This record gives sequence, C-alpha cells and structure tokens, in this order.
Amino acid sequence: MPSRNILVINCGSSSIKFALVKPDQAQFAISGLAERLGSTDAVLHWQRDNAKHSLAIAGGDHRSALAHLLPMVQEAADGQLHGIGHRVVHGGERFTSAQRLDAEVIDAIRAIAPLAPLHNPASLLGIEAALALYPELPQVAVFDTAFHQTLPEHAYRYAVPQQLYREHGVRRYGFHGTSHRFVSLRAAEVTGLAVTDSSWLVAHLGNGCSTCAVVDGQSRDTSMGMTPLEGLVMGTRSGDVDPNLHSHLARTLGWSLEQTDRMLNHDSGLLGLSGLSNDMRSLEQAREQGHAGATLAIEVFCYRLSKSLAAMSCALPRLDGLIFTGGIGENSPLIRSKTVAHLRLLGLALDEDANARCIRGVSGPIQAADHPRVLVIPTNEERQIALDTLALLDT
Ligand code: AMP
Repeated sequence: MPSRNILVINCGSSSIKFALVKPDQAQFAISGLAERLGSTDAVLHWQRDNAKHSLAIAGGDHRSALAHLLPMVQEAADGQLHGIGHRVVHGGERFTSAQRLDAEVIDAIRAIAPLAPLHNPASLLGIEAALALYPELPQVAVFDTAFHQTLPEHAYRYAVPQQLYREHGVRRYGFHGTSHRFVSLRAAEVTGLAVTDSSWLVAHLGNGCSTCAVVDGQSRDTSMGMTPLEGLVMGTRSGDVDPNLHSHLARTLGWSLEQTDRMLNHDSGLLGLSGLSNDMRSLEQAREQGHAGATLAIEVFCYRLSKSLAAMSCALPRLDGLIFTGGIGENSPLIRSKTVAHLRLLGLALDEDANARCIRGVSGPIQAADHPRVLVIPTNEERQIALDTLALLDT
C-alpha cells in the first residue's frame, strides 16, 4: 500500500502543534507550532528536512494559522493528505475510543467542556477551522481520556455524595491516555509478551506527569483525576494537596477560587518547590551547584512518583515491567534512579550503566540482572493519534 499521510493537530487556546505522520516512516515529514495566536505576535514555526523556518502571522487566529500551514502540509504529503487526527483532552464518559468527527461528536465535545474549560474549547477551535478549510477530508478526534474508560468503578469514583457523580460527572477520568497506550503496546512488542497477557506500570513524565497501571492492554488505574491537576508533582502543577487548601487560603489569606486555582496550576510543582524553574534540566544543573530549592524539588518529585507507582501496583496481578517515558522519563537517569531506589519493596533495582545510556531517544531495559524489568520507551503521541485516525478511516 502506498504511504498514507495523516496530519495530527493539537490545539491550545492560543497555539496549534502539528505533525504530518507517515505511518511507515519514523520521522515526521513536517512538524511545527503556531503560537501566540490572536495576538500581534502570532508566529508559525515549522521544521522540514531538518531545516527550521518561522513566519510572522500578526493577528492570526487558529483558522488563519491552519490556512498558512495546510498548503505546506499538502506539499510535504505530495498532495495526498488522507485525514486529520485532532487531539482532544476530555472525552468524558461518552468516548471510549477515537471518533470520526461529525456534528453530533462536535456537540458532545462541546457538552463535555465544563469538565475541561480550558482544553475542549481550544480543541473545538482547531476542529472547526480544519473542517471549514477541508470539509471533504475525513477528520477524527482522539481523546486523552478514552484509554482510561476501562478503569473499574472502585478506581474512578471519589468518596463524595453519589449525585455529584450521577448528575455532574464528578469522577476520576485520567489523561495522557494516548501516551500510556502507545508505550505499553511498545513494551509488549519489544519484550515479546502478548498485549492481552501483560501487566505494566507506566510513568509518563513531561511537563505534565501521570502514572498508569496497564493490564492486558487496558488502563486499570491512573494518577490524574477529574482534571489533570490530581496526582504527581508536575512542572507547574501541584498534584495532590489537601482538598481543604482552597478554603484554608480563602479564610486565612482571603484568596479567591481563581487565585488558588492559578497558584495550583501555574505557580506550583517543580517551579513552586524550587523557586527557580519548572524545567527538570535546569533543576538538575542547579542541584549540581548545590541549589537547595532545586534539590528539594527533585527529592519531592521522585518520592511522590514512587509512592504513586507503588499505589498503582495494587491494580496489577503481577509486574512485567515499569516503563519510563516523556521528556523527563526518557532523558533523566537521575530521576529514574532516585525513583526506583524508593521501590525496593517491589523488587526493583537498576543497572546504572544501562540507565545512563538511555537518553536522547535511546531506549531499552535498564534493570539490574535478576530484577523486574524497567524500560525506557520514547512516547510518540502524534504517531498513535495518526494510527487511531487511520484505523477509523479504514472502517
Ligand atoms: P515533555 O513535556 O515530554 O516535552 O517534557 C518536558 C520536560 O522534560 C521538561 O521538564 C524538561 O526539562 C525535561 N527534560 C528534557 N530533557 C531532559 C534531560 N536531558 N534531563 C532532564 N530533564 C529533561
């Protein structure tokens, strides 16, 4: 079959990330980012054949950014674009898999927006602009939450009054599903285990971080909840805090809900703990130079991560391996080493030479001899979205 071309789009409220995926090629044919959309500084960056380009699109919105980038994508696809896959953050309980986009699916994504007030409206901007520009092209929504719809009820319910769940959807949904699915499938492939008879712990560690228990190819528990704030320490997000924090800050400091929300989502995590940066690379360098805040942020990050992995192990019948992925998981021997050191009771131990070698796209096993597998596997959400899109185009 000739190569097929799928454009993958990931929209934020003022940005669009895109990549042209040819499933039989490892590299993206073209990829890039439109940012600061809606402002006078709007700009489109793209990369093709290892060359980087930028174009100012002053005042450009999502539609004008897509209008600029689509002809370049068509050219890179030799005029043969077969479909567009859109990343959508929240699919609620309605979507358990990717969906071909039509008016009904778009309405449902809009109806779920109260659960993801920042993310779903941004995805809709991209979907509506792409449909307006290419009404004939098949387009698909791939949901971050869909993979976690297999969580058992005891894992997804909060201990709050029933009607909050039944009438208002207050439950745990989980996110990063595309990444957790991609790397757990890859782990089965590289170890020769059947996906349907395999049992993994996954740590997706990027700017956002989450853990997942994947059994027989299905998500059984995950650390993010109703929103992507729950769970691990992240770049600027706090992860778990005492649920009384909002009222405590309101009573003692007079903070509004918005102020506390902002603090928990944008000023916390590695940034808040270190007082320095949300970027793990910078923190590792600062730690080397004895920076106390960076040292503490790394310690808290790893301890909380290991606690979450130990909790996820409750969902596994056995452990076929722990998978590290995401920018930090794929590139930081220090974080992997410190995290695994807290997991002695699961029998985990690293071969530190193998651990040190797995950086910048090098993948493989890093466990010490005769210990359970620990794997570094680069994630590729764009590729998984393209594969899900293609699978729907073929039905
Ligand atoms: P992502 O969101 O997956 O792109 O991951 C971003 C995070 O990965 C940031 O905190 C980066 O600092 C971190 N990261 C990337 N490369 C390295 C590295 N070599 N060592 C430590 N952290 C890294």
